[in-house]
Order: sequence, then structure tokens, then C-alpha cells
Amino acid sequence: MPRHATDGSSSATSGSGHSIRRVDGAKRVCLDGESMPELPEVETVANGVHARVHGQKIASVWLSRYKEPFKTPRAEMADTLTGKRIERVYREGKHIVFDLSARGRTSKISAQWIVHLGMTGRLLVSAFEVPVPNHTHAVLSLSDGRELRFVDARRFGRLALHKMEGNPGFRGPGREPLTISGEDFVALFRSRKLAIKAALLNQSLLHGVGNIYADESLFRAGIRPTWPACRLSRERLLRLHAALKDVLRKAIELGGSSVSDYVDADGVAGFFQLEHRVYMRTGEPCLVCGKPIKRIVLAGRGTHFCARCQK
Ligand SMILES: [Zn+2]
Repeated sequence: MPRHATDGSSSATSGSGHSIRRVDGAKRVCLDGESMPELPEVETVANGVHARVHGQKIASVWLSRYKEPFKTPRAEMADTLTGKRIERVYREGKHIVFDLSARGRTSKISAQWIVHLGMTGRLLVSAFEVPVPNHTHAVLSLSDGRELRFVDARRFGRLALHKMEGNPGFRGPGREPLTISGEDFVALFRSRKLAIKAALLNQSLLHGVGNIYADESLFRAGIRPTWPACRLSRERLLRLHAALKDVLRKAIELGGSSVSDYVDADGVAGFFQLEHRVYMRTGEPCLVCGKPIKRIVLAGRGTHFCARCQK
């Protein structure tokens, strides 16, 4: 497929930094590595791609020669994907899962294609005529002539197959923050000695929560990120559970308004994200009490909080 750009050549867009502009209490960020996709962005992409490609058959597959993105051998991946019908696209943790059925048997899922966006990965649905961007690692040609493209400049994203063959569907590690019950949330954290922020980031406990939404939910719940999880009362953990779900849901709603720019365009436009209250606001006044936001490093991650509002 000679018309595909050679990956690894210099990119005209990678040095542009992340364009940020404010829109009604939200800002638009490009996921160029500074800001990794977290649960809301992954959910937004999964929903946007589902709306555009479900029901389509994969007519042919092109994969780049780079090793890093492929957790399943390239030939096997291309073979398995070709001819399958895309039944559904959804988020599982921070993974995007494509349910695929074999030709002619529309309902039975025979394989899943698993996409992890890593830091800079993008899934684009494009007309055939739209030039293929640099750093494209997979092109799935669809039965209606459009193409689903996986583009990833830094190559931290991953593509894999999950064979069904009697196995249950792909499951990420950890529990799902949007559906876990309050009691299960309390039980998950109550015995943990590590700092609550570190526990929130631990993907084997809850999956999909990254640095931004850990900081933001702790602020909204009024909890100091350094508290050992096991020393937080049931009431405070329940408040954190509610705050986390609330902030993730709002971010998903907001992301939905920019998904078209993200999935349909050449990827220069980014997502709308919630205006952060503490994340990356070091030294700026707390929006509640005016005290400057503090930054510490916890579990190796920059951690932002208000020392007055978060006890
Ligand atoms: Zn404050």
C-alpha cells in the first residue's frame, strides 16, 4: 500500500505543543503526551468509533512494519481481522474493545481486537481519499470504503487480539470505577495502607483512573491525597466514590461534544476536558478558599491539592 506515509518520518504536527483554548468552563487539549488519555477520553473514543463503524465488515488490513504496537504477531492479526464484521466497540478499563463476528454468522463474537491508546494513540475514521497521516500503524479498510486508522507518534499504544474460543470477553485488571457500588468501593480501599492517591492510581484495584481524575476527585471529596487509604472513614470513602463517578461522568459528557473533531478529523483538534480545579494549578488560588494550590510528588506523580480544603 504505497500511498501510506512512512512512519518514523518527521511529523509537522508533533512539535506544535498542545493547543489549549477555553470554551465555557472547559478547555480543549491535544493528547500529545503531556496529557494521556484517561477513562473519559477512552470512553469518548470508543463510543465515537462505535457510532461510525459498527456493522461494517473489515475488507482488508494493512499494518506497519514496527514491532512495538503489536502484541499479537502482525500476520495473525491481519488474518484474523480480515473478513470480520465489527459488532460493537466499547471501553474496558483504558482499553478499546472491538467485538468481531465471523463472516455470515452475525451475532457470535469470534474474536476481539483490543486497542490501547498509550500516550499519543488515536483512532481515526476517514474517507479513503483523506491522506494517511504519518505514524499510521494500522489501516482497516471497511466495506463502505472508509478506513479505520490507528495513528501513534510515540508508539506507546498497543494493538492485540483476544481470541474467544470459549474464553470470556477481554477483561482489564481491576474494577470499573463507573459501575462499582459504594460498598464495594469502600471494601476495595479500606484495608490498603498506601496513600489514597496511590491506591486510586493502582490499576489492579480500579482501572482507568489516571493522575488528573485522581487529583480532581480527591479535591472534590475534600480528602488529602497523602492519607493512608485504610485510615479514611467509610463516609469519606463514599464521598470519594461519588466525587470520582461525578467527575468522570461530566468529563465523558464534555468529551462527547468534541469527539467528532477527534475521531473524524486529522487529529489536530483534541478533546474538551473539564476545567481542572487543582490539577496543574500549582500556586494558583483554590477556587473554593483562595489558598494557593500545592504540588507534591506522590507515587512518582505530580500531585495537586489545597491544604485548607483537603484534610
Ligand atoms: Zn481550598
